[in-house]
Amino acid sequence: MNRFSFSLLVLLVLAGCGETYVEHQLTEYEYPNPIDTKSVPIDMPLTQPEYVFPKENITFSGKFKSSRINNAERMGKNSYRVLITPENAPINPSPWFAFKVWSDREKSIEVELEYRDGTHRYWPKLSRDGENWTRIDTTALEVTNEGKFAKMQLNVDSEPLWVSAQEIIDTDDIREWAEQYASVDDTEFGVFGESALGRELIHLDVKKGSTEGKEIIAVVSRQHPPEVTGNMAMIAFVEEIMSDSELSRNFRERYHLLVYPMLNPDGVDLGHWRHNFGGIDLNRDWAHYNQPEIRQVCEHIIAQANTAKAEVILGLDFHSTYNDIYYTIADSIQTVMPDFTNEWIANIEKHLEGFNANVSPSGITSPVSKNWFYNEFKAVGIVYEIGDDTPRDIIRKKGEISAREMMKLLLAR
Ligand SMILES: [Zn+2]
Repeated sequence: MNRFSFSLLVLLVLAGCGETYVEHQLTEYEYPNPIDTKSVPIDMPLTQPEYVFPKENITFSGKFKSSRINNAERMGKNSYRVLITPENAPINPSPWFAFKVWSDREKSIEVELEYRDGTHRYWPKLSRDGENWTRIDTTALEVTNEGKFAKMQLNVDSEPLWVSAQEIIDTDDIREWAEQYASVDDTEFGVFGESALGRELIHLDVKKGSTEGKEIIAVVSRQHPPEVTGNMAMIAFVEEIMSDSELSRNFRERYHLLVYPMLNPDGVDLGHWRHNFGGIDLNRDWAHYNQPEIRQVCEHIIAQANTAKAEVILGLDFHSTYNDIYYTIADSIQTVMPDFTNEWIANIEKHLEGFNANVSPSGITSPVSKNWFYNEFKAVGIVYEIGDDTPRDIIRKKGEISAREMMKLLLAR
């Protein structure tokens, strides 16, 4: 080999090195305050709970997915008490309730919710079909005993009245929603694993043509069952990315999007307050992977990255809490896109009238999803939290704007 060819070879090897993809593998992470995520027992709700009171012809039913009613008793004339308990305790205070009630004829009844291991949080929603919901009238709700009880006046008749903590979005709804996108470009709907009780873990693999070398954006949601408003935001966000706009089409051409819209199917369908069937907060298991849902989603993301020889650059996790907030990675921590978070949130503020973002940056100190995305890929990790009571039209608008502003920023890279 002459000197020229040797130099050329060295140059080629060096140039090649910069692009060499190093395979990822599932890695356990240690945090300063470790959290034990090994399974613990839960109280399984009755699968078909129904409480019938023949004297006044009143029936309370939990015969549907996401129901939660642990007992019902008659307290007096047209007066009932419904017990709401969590899957296990101690637990985050998100007392979820959902049941149907009907009578043989029109009447007004009083239903008092009694919470164990938590206090009243969700403003009750009513529905006649499980699809269209209204908030209960302020005059028909009285919260007493520092939130231990919530008394509702309900007008019932022979048609079931649904009473629920939030609108119900169960595993069937999300599966149906996700499946429709299998027709967009080369997007695939898939099942990447199963929960402890054998429910499907589903995902969308959004792509156009080959994914080889295309950077990955990962979206996850519904680790916490009652966090329906976060799920609504994710739906609006993904719908915008799947739209036929030029921006969305260009984005799908250049990037590879992985969507995991329902990470805790057992918890959602069993009407849990927080945990999975293992009695564990899934968003504390992104370090030791004791729970099947988290182990499988992490393995799946890593496999997708390794197959495409491409890095995850952004991981978004949609949740709900009392108010809208973004939990972000502190600026002092060097991610693959150091300016992305601040620019993105500023652009959302600019386009959503009257919106002042609440941003809470932190270090990489706990075993939550956002920190896993950083640890594994040096990706930007963001927890996108929506308030329990954020108006539903604002959730949708914000989700759409968030998607558009994300796509613009990423396409400008
Ligand atoms: Zn959450």
